[in-house]
Amino acid sequence: MRLVLLGAPGSGKGTQAELLKAQYGCAHISTGDILRRNLKDKTELGVRAGVFMNKGELVPDGLVVEMVEKRLREDDAANSFLMDGFPRTLPQAEALESMLKELDRPLDVVLFLKVEEEFLVRRLTNRRTCRSCGKIWNALLMATGTKACPECGGELHQRDDDMESVIRNRLDVYREQTEPLMSWYEKKGLLRSIDAVNSPEKTFKEIQVALGR
Ligand code: AMP
Repeated sequence: MRLVLLGAPGSGKGTQAELLKAQYGCAHISTGDILRRNLKDKTELGVRAGVFMNKGELVPDGLVVEMVEKRLREDDAANSFLMDGFPRTLPQAEALESMLKELDRPLDVVLFLKVEEEFLVRRLTNRRTCRSCGKIWNALLMATGTKACPECGGELHQRDDDMESVIRNRLDVYREQTEPLMSWYEKKGLLRSIDAVNSPEKTFKEIQVALGR
């Protein structure tokens, strides 16, 4: 299975990617996670990307495409993968299409996680990530003041780009640069729309129906 998860920031791509990976064992390729790892390790890529990420802007296409190209050539991505947060612009989508053509591994499906904008802001401002295991939690669904990951006890933190002012910018960028991808993939007959306002489990069931599994 080779799929792309498309959706606004906070639509649940990361959470659904983890569920898909656990169920079907496909390689999870998250450009946001790779970039954040580089930022933390202060690599050259991380330093260059950080300038854009902290403002909620997109990292230039060339840097991201090169990173994905490298990742796609790793063994675990040979047959099945899911792209989370990539492509985000038309040039990225075109680059992905030609990379996959060259590797003779076309995409099977593009899942679009549909959520209203105000809901996204509420979700993102309350998103907490575990520094140890990376699991994503919603502060509204936990006891007030919870600071430790309920699963591994690691420290829960708020991503720098989950502050409200940065979130608004990320949503504007999404509307301008990423939304046009929907009609692009629709024309190719690859797009499936998923209602993603419900619990992660319910959304995952909808995804399984869309995948015919
Ligand atoms: P995410 O975790 O997917 O929301 O990504 C966090 C940030 O990383 C984004 O706001 C961008 O600055 C950067 N980023 C992630 N994926 C891409 C991409 N495909 N193209 C450009 N920038 C990206």
